[in-house]
Amino acid sequence: MKGERVEVAVIGSGPGGVTAACALAEAGREVLVLEEGPEVPPGSIPTYSRGEMLTCYRNAGLTVALGNPKVAYVEGRCVGGGSEVNGGLYHRTPDAVLGEWARDYGLLGARPEQLAPHFEAVEADLGVTLEAGEPAPSSLRLAAGAEALGWSVVEVPRWFRQDDAGQPVRQSMSRTLIPRLRAAGGRVRADSRVTRVRRERDEWLLEGERLALRAKSVFVAGGAIQSPLLLRRSGLAPRAGKRLGLQTMTKVVARFSEPVTPRGSGIPVHQVKERGPRIGLGGSIATPEHVSLALIDHPGELPRACAEPERYAIYYAVVRGGRGSVQPLPGFRDPLVRYRLDERDLADLALGQRDLCQALLAGGAEALFPCWAGAPVVRGPDDLRRLPDSLPRGKANLFSVHLTSSCPMGEGTACVTDSYGRVHGCEGLYVSDASLLCEPPGVNPQGSVMAFARRNALRFLEARA
Ligand SMILES: Cc1cc2nc3c(=O)[nH]c(=O)nc-3n(C[C@H](O)[C@H](O)[C@H](O)COP(=O)(O)OP(=O)(O)OC[C@H]3O[C@@H](n4cnc5c(N)ncnc54)[C@H](O)[C@@H]3O)c2cc1C
Repeated sequence: MKGERVEVAVIGSGPGGVTAACALAEAGREVLVLEEGPEVPPGSIPTYSRGEMLTCYRNAGLTVALGNPKVAYVEGRCVGGGSEVNGGLYHRTPDAVLGEWARDYGLLGARPEQLAPHFEAVEADLGVTLEAGEPAPSSLRLAAGAEALGWSVVEVPRWFRQDDAGQPVRQSMSRTLIPRLRAAGGRVRADSRVTRVRRERDEWLLEGERLALRAKSVFVAGGAIQSPLLLRRSGLAPRAGKRLGLQTMTKVVARFSEPVTPRGSGIPVHQVKERGPRIGLGGSIATPEHVSLALIDHPGELPRACAEPERYAIYYAVVRGGRGSVQPLPGFRDPLVRYRLDERDLADLALGQRDLCQALLAGGAEALFPCWAGAPVVRGPDDLRRLPDSLPRGKANLFSVHLTSSCPMGEGTACVTDSYGRVHGCEGLYVSDASLLCEPPGVNPQGSVMAFARRNALRFLEARA
């Protein structure tokens, strides 16, 4: 393998890396995608299962951002990255958020009308559509409750297509852009972790476990934790990982008087945007295993939940506040990830949790179990007063699946790349993943990751036409 050369190497096969790789390969470039994780044939592992966690998640899903409170987070680690395991809920970046990024980060070329063609392409590539059948009963309950309170609710489209038997199948990189990338001559190499990137004369040398490769251009697309780690370990981009954005969730388990999560019912698709983009409300996957885990702070409820799991559903309140960092630790494979939530963030989480409980009571829930140590059980409107005004630091049980903003793009001094993903001071080195988003977008981020990756890849091609 020593002496191998490619025109473009892409490090990481998640939505950001594969979107760029596909655009470049379809324009005739020689592209090799290097992916640390395994290649898992689509459909070979049940979705949202323990097997999926063991195979497709980094560290089997056991990762934490240190702080007070700590935030548990997960990253996909397989060909296709997070797209292989995620919920498939799609949003464009809200216009107001794009305005903030232009104002605060000097981000150029990202007005809503400039991004629209890229979002349209992503929507077509993934088959973004509203759920064909009736949404899950747990989703309808949240929507009904919020509507009864006069709050703004949206049914969020997802990336879904029907299979030959007419069954809806969640789309992912391995079902969409990776086959296209391969058809265009691009290659994906699994089980190939890059540990260092360095410049040698006019090329980049990529080193890793069983790997040495030269490339004219490199797109770093390892996701918001791994990309800054690789850049810093390589002695490139000293500002990479100095900041990190998480959309942080607190969960509530709800018990209803009849089944709301019948076997096979999908992920809830309704989200409450009344306080968006600062605070959002929605629903999570609620298999019996997920419900049991979420009830860890209410062990007395477990026997009933195990006996009648279909009466339980899991919901969340999510905030986009706080600030973190990703730092290499000498001698360790994983970085030190830290996250700090200030008083306002904890108050937002508490406010979101209270709103959520109010909406679920209005939607017919008979008992609510907020997921933090010592939380009261909420059985009626009077119990809402027992919820705190701020989530208690030592007891909060927080979680994130939306990791962003560790290598923000733009022309501002805090930015790691220019407005189109090129790492400052590094000819031919680009970032192409969720790290680039200047701040957490306040919505599910994969649509934003892909739209910016496509826009930046087309810009790269234009510059070399
Ligand atoms: C459980 C879950 C549910 C989610 N639900 C939604 C949702 O409903 N809607 C939505 O919009 N978003 C959702 N997300 C978030 C979404 O999946 C991510 O925003 C998206 O995957 C980020 O894409 P990315 O390209 O930045 O990185 P990733 O998807 O993280 O991909 C990075 C890839 O790079 C590989 N890699 C890392 N470092 C190296 C290295 N050094 N060498 C080689 N390879 C490397 C990793 O193994 C990984 O496969 C969810 C995420 C999770 C985990």
